[in-house]
Amino acid sequence: MAGIEIQLTDKSRINDPNWNELGFGRYFSDHMFITRYTKGEWDNGEILPYGPLLIEPGMCTLHYGQTIFEGLKAFRDVRGGANLFRPIMNARRLNNSADRLCIPRYDELKLIDSMIELIKIDKNWIPKVKGQSLYIRPVAFGSGNFLGVQASESYILCVMTSPVSSYYPEGLNPVRIMIADDYVRAVRGGLGSAKTAANYAASLLAAKKAKEKGFAQVLWLDGVSREFVDEVGAMNIMFVIDNELITPPLTQDSILAGVTRDTVLTLAKEWGMKVSERSITMNDVDNANHAGTLQEVFGTGTAAVISPVGVLNFKNEDIVVNGNKIGPVAQKMYDYITGIQCGEIEDTHNWNVHFDL
Ligand SMILES: *Cc1c(COP(=O)(O)O)cnc(C)c1O
Repeated sequence: MAGIEIQLTDKSRINDPNWNELGFGRYFSDHMFITRYTKGEWDNGEILPYGPLLIEPGMCTLHYGQTIFEGLKAFRDVRGGANLFRPIMNARRLNNSADRLCIPRYDELKLIDSMIELIKIDKNWIPKVKGQSLYIRPVAFGSGNFLGVQASESYILCVMTSPVSSYYPEGLNPVRIMIADDYVRAVRGGLGSAKTAANYAASLLAAKKAKEKGFAQVLWLDGVSREFVDEVGAMNIMFVIDNELITPPLTQDSILAGVTRDTVLTLAKEWGMKVSERSITMNDVDNANHAGTLQEVFGTGTAAVISPVGVLNFKNEDIVVNGNKIGPVAQKMYDYITGIQCGEIEDTHNWNVHFDL
């Protein structure tokens, strides 16, 4: 692409990872894309060997968290080449997050082009095993050095990539989830609908305590009444109750608008399911369980795609979902979405951005 300066590494690290046990986000590929914002505009950007950035202790983001990120994946297409899955949604969401954090917007198509350029250079880092992929992590942050609380005047946008296996070590086995009742992740009017560091910092202690009790993650309730379900870990949450697919609406600003969430809702409607974006309380879920109509619970997100929930620990009692087994809707969604991503299932929505390697 015209404009991007490219400086290639003379020492590839491609043999460093244990390719049989990639985990999530442990290895970084050889190159990164980086662009800087100064004097009111982003520069042309460059692709450089992945490596440390020189920062000052006074850099504002370390103190005040003016930073946003994205997460998407590149997949090898079984017919050759590679696919990005719905990258325009990520580019738009990055800008929505940017607006909320007073970070300057970045041209959406240019971001996608830069990602493709970067991935082509590091094409050998896209895993060849089915189910594995190259995770792409754009991050943008204020890079000014000052201690007054205000938006930075300079910024860095960096895109790095990381070969990954599936997010949960348990794979598609259902996870045990604890309802967070001591802590909240996001409040109405807060940062919940932005992909920004503070939300994840806010989640760490609850997640740690849940892990100590043997749970994989926490389910977050709304920050006001602490009755309505918001999200599960860093995923959106879906319930199948009495054959209706239910997920909380995006209207309260406390929920991240997931790409996978949108994908699942779109497919479910096409498959003729009753689909509702509406508020749901844990009491509703508990009642459905007692009535025998709670069929499935699963999380949706780029990293795991679909993560079935086997147990919900609510008020110290376990709600066991679908006999702690993955349900048919979750399984069908997983198979279908991953099938589109790798080119095995026809992409009737034009969700993939396909490119040659
Ligand atoms: C990224 C994220 C999601 C999932 O979004 P996808 O676009 O589906 O990956 C859901 N909730 C939170 C809090 C997130 O950070």
